[in-house]
Amino acid sequence: MAEKGKLIILSGPSGVGKSTIVFKAMQERSIFCFSTSVTTREPRPGEVHGREYFFIDQERFDEMVAADELLEYASYVNHSYGTPRSFVEEKLEEGMNVILDIEIQGARQVYEKIPEAITVFILPPSMETLRERLIKRGTDSRETIEARIRRACQEIEEADFYDYLIVNEDVETAAKEFNAIITAEYCRFDRTKALALREPDFNC
Ligand code: 5GP
Repeated sequence: MAEKGKLIILSGPSGVGKSTIVFKAMQERSIFCFSTSVTTREPRPGEVHGREYFFIDQERFDEMVAADELLEYASYVNHSYGTPRSFVEEKLEEGMNVILDIEIQGARQVYEKIPEAITVFILPPSMETLRERLIKRGTDSRETIEARIRRACQEIEEADFYDYLIVNEDVETAAKEFNAIITAEYCRFDRTKALALREPDFNC
């Protein structure tokens, strides 16, 4: 049976560059897959249903919650977001590493259910840089941008349960750091595995 995959939770303020980091990391490692969330927010120009998100209405979202189809869910600046459970569970069983790009309340829910999940928080070099990035992206109103900045400040204060922190000053470096974290996790001393290996391979 294939060894179970690793679950990687990536959080950080909206606009910090998480998807670019994930995209670059996936180019280097084929055993990653990305969990596509459901959301009630409107698609941004260029976003495709089933790629960035499954865009659904609040009624369908509530049905999924009631049927326990979401591994976690949360509300973020007036919209609901959630991770479909079946995809994540199936891929982990198949031995794939699954990346969740989710905000902090959802991360906490997953961490409580699956404590071996690897948690990574991405920070911008400063809040001003984040504001500039969100303005440049041009997809949100000024009011939404300020709401997202306020939410980012709250998240940073509560992020102390994450295992790793990356400051995304430059995306190439951030992606390398992300991959280094995954490499380190593969090299972790796992006592059960080490004991199982001992006899045939090392003759001791
Ligand atoms: P955006 O609207 O900018 O795409 O995402 C807003 C925030 O929602 C981001 O911080 C993103 O990580 C988070 N998010 C995206 N999908 C999910 C999800 O399935 N669950 C939770 N809890 N947060 C999500």
